[in-house]
Amino acid sequence: MIRIQNLSKSYGKNKIKALDGINLEVKKGEIFGFLGPNGAGKTTTIKLITGILKMDEGNIFVNGMSIKDNPIEVKKQIGFVPDNPEIFNRLTGIEYLNFIADVYEMGKEERKTNILKLSKEFEIEDVLGESIGSYSHGMKQKLVLIGALMHKPPLWILDEPMVGLDPKAAFTLKNMMREHADKGNTVFFSTHVLEVAEKICDRIAIIKGGKIITVGTVEELKNKKHEESLEKLFL
Ligand code: ATP
Repeated sequence: MIRIQNLSKSYGKNKIKALDGINLEVKKGEIFGFLGPNGAGKTTTIKLITGILKMDEGNIFVNGMSIKDNPIEVKKQIGFVPDNPEIFNRLTGIEYLNFIADVYEMGKEERKTNILKLSKEFEIEDVLGESIGSYSHGMKQKLVLIGALMHKPPLWILDEPMVGLDPKAAFTLKNMMREHADKGNTVFFSTHVLEVAEKICDRIAIIKGGKIITVGTVEELKNKKHEESLEKLFL
């Protein structure tokens, strides 16, 4: 579902290398965890996949399409939750969701059904009529999640999605991720918490200093070969 080839990205005049020639394949139907400490390059990778940033070198294919050649088609495949969502505080929750639904050209019935279902699951249905400015961080995070997931894109890309969620919402999201993947869709999410990745993912890649250190199933990463790199990860 995602193929990343020799991807590099540097920032600023000093050309600080955030990503240094990474290669990665994420299969359809899997929950893939992108794990690494602060500053490892997770958000940069996600911004390149979602087309927010332009790559210096390499290429990214989503569902077989190069994002360089098909940026709009690729964006339609993706439901994206950024790590630090900036949303319009003056809108109400429902206004925000309707705006997103318009962008994705969702019909009346489809948006009503999906918004109701998801807002109940995340327990924010009672505040949808209130302005987003009055929401807590966790409520905003839930709203952004609903906005990203309600059009049921085949690829979910979530940057640190568990941060700010209460345990119940984190559990709900985890179940939704599994349900989505079990239907043949793909979930790619970043985290700096090893336990989160271990509990949820089919496969994990570990990134550090802009380079992929290792890729494998949770079982594979737990075996001796990788223990060292897992322990060193947060040093
Ligand atoms: P975090 O968990 O802290 O968000 P991350 O793994 O997502 O970390 P990135 O945000 O991708 O890491 O950052 C990778 C490197 O690029 C870091 O050294 C960071 O300081 C640098 N970097 C990121 N964004 C910029 C920017 N806009 N300008 C300059 N350097 C940046």
